[in-house]
Amino acid sequence: MNSVALVTGASRGIGRATAILLAEQGYAVGVNYLNNEAAAQSVVDEIISGGGNAIAIKADIADEAQVVAMFKRLTDELGTLTALVNNAGILFQQSTIENLTAERINTVLSTNVTGYFLCCREAVKIMSHRHGGKGGAMVNVSSAASRLGAPGEYVDYAASKGAVDTLTTGLALEVAAYGIRVNCVRPGLIYTDIHASGGEPGRVDRVKANLPMQRGGQPEEVAQAICWLLSDSASYVTGSFIDLAGGR
Ligand code: NAD
Repeated sequence: MNSVALVTGASRGIGRATAILLAEQGYAVGVNYLNNEAAAQSVVDEIISGGGNAIAIKADIADEAQVVAMFKRLTDELGTLTALVNNAGILFQQSTIENLTAERINTVLSTNVTGYFLCCREAVKIMSHRHGGKGGAMVNVSSAASRLGAPGEYVDYAASKGAVDTLTTGLALEVAAYGIRVNCVRPGLIYTDIHASGGEPGRVDRVKANLPMQRGGQPEEVAQAICWLLSDSASYVTGSFIDLAGGR
């Protein structure tokens, strides 16, 4: 089966590392991005210079029409989707609940939850045996925050990731008979730009000091788990969660 993957939010961070590793493993990769075309193109260029195949696709995953158009373009230019990585996510500055606005809560939920649902929906339409598809696999990128709740910091983000966990469980059961596996990774502290917008100075060091492994993780360490879950090596794994949180 030709392997075609879509990675959302792949211009940097965990998505970037995952797109590059998938390409190394032979997938043609759709590199989704929101704004930074140059960064997405640099991922594509790196993949192509390594002998792989990739295209950059601009789309806001919270926008239904843009998601539908993204999957159409991916199919037209790379072929039938076999792997989806729901990775694009947002995290706002730390806040107690008294200061959470409806606008912020809705923005977080629209990307971190609605965006994941929309991409899963479009992927199922392509992969499902019910629709004549050949099956496939998905990985949702959640967070250790879904278990820990992120009290006093970003309970909105944590709740959105709780929804990602439940989406994974429910969808895995719904589509298991149709040749689709759905799994989830829950990173802890991973060194990416997301912390530039989400935390006070020094937060990363404070969190790190409390981790059993005494260090944060690298995006490539998360990418390895995602790629394994998508691979045939994980052919009997669905509805499962891998925690990548240094023992936390
Ligand atoms: P990041 O900020 O480097 O990457 C996130 C990417 O998603 C960015 O490129 C951003 O532009 C994109 N994005 C945001 N909203 C989008 C939208 N509406 N449509 C399309 N793209 C959008 O952060 P990261 O750490 O690589 O995060 C990747 C995933 O990992 C996220 O879901 C995040 O919640 C999760 N995560 C990260 C950590 C961590 O410590 N870095 C921990 C737990 C979970």
